[in-house]
Amino acid sequence: MVRRDEIRTNEVGVEMPPATDAGLIYIGRIRTPWTDRLTCPRQGRLDGPLCTIEIFEPWVAALAEIERYERLEVLYWLDKSRRDLVLQSPASDGTVRGTFSLRTPVRPNPIGTSIALLVGVEGNVVKVRGLDCLDGTPLLDLKPDRTLFTPIAPRQPGDDEVGGPG
Ligand code: SAM
Repeated sequence: MVRRDEIRTNEVGVEMPPATDAGLIYIGRIRTPWTDRLTCPRQGRLDGPLCTIEIFEPWVAALAEIERYERLEVLYWLDKSRRDLVLQSPASDGTVRGTFSLRTPVRPNPIGTSIALLVGVEGNVVKVRGLDCLDGTPLLDLKPDRTLFTPIAPRQPGDDEVGGPG
């Protein structure tokens, strides 16, 4: 069930710690048909409506060669989200799940990602299909879809071991 900013039965919020500055910058703005979270799709579809991504200067030059790729990963900042819930009730029925087991926009760092179909580039505007964010959502990054790349390094002994001190 799509949400705005309400707290639902059995959900748990925490006091937000002070922000650490990761140095993020908004490199553009996403234009979509959706102006309300309640009508915005939960996940984009590659046959969804045409959306445009406006890239700000000085980053327009960074679009060079992007048209080599048919699919892009789009990373954006879900700027209207609350960020303080650790347990959430997606169905609003009193049952709750941990935030990190969900793709909810409500998360401590509300980064959204979509795989989008690249339709074309005109100047500073990238046309895509496959997004699920509100009109005006700030853009964090564009990358070629990771599934178009294969690992360069051969498998190494120990690749299957669990990392970290143990
Ligand atoms: N595809 C992304 C992902 O998996 O990381 C986002 C998925 S999230 C479930 C999509 C929902 O986020 C939309 O249905 C809408 O309710 C909400 N949303 C979209 N744009 C937003 C924004 N700018 N701020 C807050 N919430 C937003």
